[in-house]
Amino acid sequence: MGRGVYWCTSCQQELPLTHFGTDAGRGGLPRGNCKLCQGIVTRASKHKRSFLDVHLLFEYQSYKCAICPVVHAHGDGLHLDHDHECCPDKGESCGQCIRGLLCWGCNGGVLPWYERIRGQAPPYPPLESYLSDPPAAALGLTTAPSGSE
Ligand SMILES: [Zn+2]
Ligand SMILES: [Zn+2]
Ligand SMILES: [Zn+2]
Repeated sequence: MGRGVYWCTSCQQELPLTHFGTDAGRGGLPRGNCKLCQGIVTRASKHKRSFLDVHLLFEYQSYKCAICPVVHAHGDGLHLDHDHECCPDKGESCGQCIRGLLCWGCNGGVLPWYERIRGQAPPYPPLESYLSDPPAAALGLTTAPSGSE
């Protein structure tokens, strides 16, 4: 392995060291997962989906927010949104009401606002299509995970 690169055990490729966080528990060594994969692992466990499910969602959305056109290099800052009427807990869900990956602005501001006024105001196409046909549903990720636990 060359200098300045490290192997990610999840996406199975050599990546620049800047793609890795460090693990204080291992004396500051790079983590075994790159930042993107580490983020996927965290999101997958909070939302009771497999690593591959969440990875598929990132690929499907081309590592972009599902609503606005802001590009997120390596999926940084994308939040896994779910239906809060099903699971009111902010950071976790049952695994069957996830909707898609959103930037903080869309997830924390625009979408909650739109959900409150939905039906009382003219439909706003990007938000309406996200809610009526979310990426997770298009990928079949809103049914019980098959094969896992
Ligand atoms: Zn990786
Ligand atoms: Zn956004
Ligand atoms: Zn739920």
